[in-house]
Amino acid sequence: MDLTYSPEELAFQREVRAWLKANVPKKDRNDNPTEGAPDAKKIARGKAWQRKVYDAGYVAMGWPTEYGGQGADVMRQTIVNEEMVRARAPGLIGMMGIQMVGPTLIAHGTAEQKQRYLPRILRAEEIWCQGYSEPGSGSDLASLRTRAEIVGDEFVVNGQKIWTSGAQYADRMFCLVRTDPEAPKHRGISYILIDMKSPGITVRPLVQMTGDPGFNEVFFEDVRVPRANLVGQLHDGWTVANATLFHERNMLASTTRTQLLFQNLVRLARTRRRGGQSATADPLVRQRLADLAIRVETMKLEAFRQLTDTLRQRAPGINASVNKLVSCELNHQISRAALEILGDYGWLAKKDPRVADDGTWPSDYMFALGLIIGGGTAQVQKNIIAERGLGMPREPRGSAVAAPGPPNKPA
Ligand SMILES: Cc1cc2nc3c(=O)[nH]c(=O)nc-3n(C[C@H](O)[C@H](O)[C@H](O)COP(=O)(O)OP(=O)(O)OC[C@H]3O[C@@H](n4cnc5c(N)ncnc54)[C@H](O)[C@@H]3O)c2cc1C
Repeated sequence: MDLTYSPEELAFQREVRAWLKANVPKKDRNDNPTEGAPDAKKIARGKAWQRKVYDAGYVAMGWPTEYGGQGADVMRQTIVNEEMVRARAPGLIGMMGIQMVGPTLIAHGTAEQKQRYLPRILRAEEIWCQGYSEPGSGSDLASLRTRAEIVGDEFVVNGQKIWTSGAQYADRMFCLVRTDPEAPKHRGISYILIDMKSPGITVRPLVQMTGDPGFNEVFFEDVRVPRANLVGQLHDGWTVANATLFHERNMLASTTRTQLLFQNLVRLARTRRRGGQSATADPLVRQRLADLAIRVETMKLEAFRQLTDTLRQRAPGINASVNKLVSCELNHQISRAALEILGDYGWLAKKDPRVADDGTWPSDYMFALGLIIGGGTAQVQKNIIAERGLGMPREPRGSAVAAPGPPNKPA
């Protein structure tokens, strides 16, 4: 593994750094447009920011040029991601498009689907949401019951999704539906793309423990979807769904986000006072920070190792599950450390004049707990790592990602 950048990469890094210095809006630093209450102004701001980053040439650089990418090598996007963290730039609002359905369409979509959807994803003209989970079908995703019957050239969809993040403002949903109720559960599912403005769709926001309506229930009543919106083969949506899950895990496992959160923690510890001196002078706080610093650094090095694998075209195996498990738990522990440093001040209301860091730490803490569950729970990731990575006996009931296949097959 080579940890140094080439002269060209260093020049590119300087260019990105200068662009971010000139363009990151000071007011929105650390603003994650997909977290919290989705008010219209925040969404418009989020779309404008993504468009600006895209126009500068820094979004989905690895995508093929015909769909709005640059066919760039993975190092360039890695440098951009690192610099975005360094500059504390706002997140991108269209991440589900850029990192989940976009790469899935590149691999499994028709030429028309790629042409129609990919450029709009990059320019934040269409925001996507993920219609996988249903009441009773979360970890056991393949038991989903939302039905799609084929009538002429259309699917007619009836059923319900739940925990659908961002459905209140999404333009489109990539959705799993049951098209063959007679087939074994993994084999009768199809992956379709739904226009969220279609008649028959009702979206009801659900309030998370952060107090914000981040996700939703989505009801479908005789919703008509063109057959051309099928991705992959009819009844073979499980294969496509797993491709998206792989990308989702890597998205949730952002090393850069974890580094950013840790930077914020260190800044907080430096500015808080304990016994008349900075909290960083307290040996217990120092020990905690050192422990977390080592783990953040280890995660970063592991990301470099995986980058080397990608550059050498080695199969990723169970990396996405390891990354998701480690980073989501680490994010939770970092925000927990912040709350402990803050003590009772940690729970002040956002508007309280004594609140630290605009009161983001309690919501970071609660949001991080949600992400240990979202995208496949920590227990489910452990099952995958055990079964596919370590070759341990297969968990009998099946899980959100355990596609049918030979038992005990290491990745
Ligand atoms: C913040 C957030 C955002 C989300 N966004 C979306 C979204 O946009 N779209 C979407 O489709 N879904 C979304 N989800 C739903 C998410 O994918 C599910 O919550 C998750 O898959 C778990 O399913 P469940 O909630 O039904 O829990 P269950 O599957 O009922 O699990 C309950 C508990 O049992 C454990 N468990 C279940 N099966 C096993 C097993 N085989 N082995 C060991 N332990 C097991 C789980 O780990 C968990 O602790 C989101 C969830 C959260 C928290």
